[in-house]
Amino acid sequence: MEKVLVTRRISDNALAFIQKSGYETTIYTEIKNIAQNDLIKMCEGHVGLLSVGPNKIDEHFLSSCKHLKGIALMSVGYDKVDLDAANSYGVPISNTPDVLSEATADTAFLLMLAVARKAFFMHKTIARGEWQFFNPMQYLGQELHGKTLGVLGLGRIGLELAKKAKAAYHMNIVYHNRNRNEQAERQLGAKYLTFDELLAQSDVLSVHVNLTNETKGLFDKNAFGKMKPNAIFINTARGAIHHEEDLLAALQHGTIWGAGLDVTNPEPMDKNNPLLDMENVCVLPHIGSATEETREKMAMMAAQNIVAALRGEQMPQVINPEVYESL
Ligand code: NAP
Repeated sequence: MEKVLVTRRISDNALAFIQKSGYETTIYTEIKNIAQNDLIKMCEGHVGLLSVGPNKIDEHFLSSCKHLKGIALMSVGYDKVDLDAANSYGVPISNTPDVLSEATADTAFLLMLAVARKAFFMHKTIARGEWQFFNPMQYLGQELHGKTLGVLGLGRIGLELAKKAKAAYHMNIVYHNRNRNEQAERQLGAKYLTFDELLAQSDVLSVHVNLTNETKGLFDKNAFGKMKPNAIFINTARGAIHHEEDLLAALQHGTIWGAGLDVTNPEPMDKNNPLLDMENVCVLPHIGSATEETREKMAMMAAQNIVAALRGEQMPQVINPEVYESL
């Protein structure tokens, strides 16, 4: 029986789907990052890989695993994948778009509101026994009603956040992509801006672009310097898109007002990181899509994709469809 390697325990339904489709599963159950050479060894004797977690799928990996008929990622982001190498080795790769957009947008919304009202810091002050008498001038946050939400990367997740912000707080939506999102312009009155205009006009700036060479380190001293002093910076996309020391300096010097991060660089974040002690900062441990419902859907989508690849069918969520032209 052909075998699929699954690099973390995922939902029973998804595993059962693979098994009922006629494939054996090997599940790596340890919760730690797998060194690439270990993953290469684990892939021996397997024809499919269901990759959960930040496994690097590059030239070295693909040239060592030529027997793989397909790789299904259980994530929408594919910044760890070298698509040119995948094409040259004829390996189709799939991701899990759409099913996680609502949950991830909720995480961005949660961070936006939690930062605006200093919620995580307030929680910590109570735990430290520092809740004192009422002081009308203390712990003041910011209101979101009627403010401007800037979305960098108004795609699937960015659009869901924009809808929520518009519905909850009548926020004005501005955005920057490489291409205009006409659906969002029609539906939400979203206004297209250049990147610099987006920096200058956003009260909340939420990042939803993919991590690429173009977006890596995009939020540095220069970018933070162009933002408003009351601005809240939210990143639920990838930690490498912001420069952490520059973000810390921007917060310390009042260049911007606050920050909410679901993604950091590196991950996990060090427990002594000074950002964790700041009043206007909220950090989450990369839980963007972490709801029972969404993880179930992501696991099932990844399972359906790997089964399709092993049957010689096109993976429904293939990210390199051009690979089929050369097969
Ligand atoms: P998507 O639908 O592809 O949206 C990405 C948007 O970014 C698109 O609108 C794209 O528009 C824009 N974009 C890409 N490169 C750009 C650039 N250089 N400059 C300006 N705009 C650019 O992707 P999605 O499904 O919303 O996911 C977005 C990202 O969220 C993923 O790549 C992943 O890294 C992250 N994510 C994180 C979590 C989490 O747990 N925190 C969960 C899910 C996803 P144009 O092509 O027109 O530029």
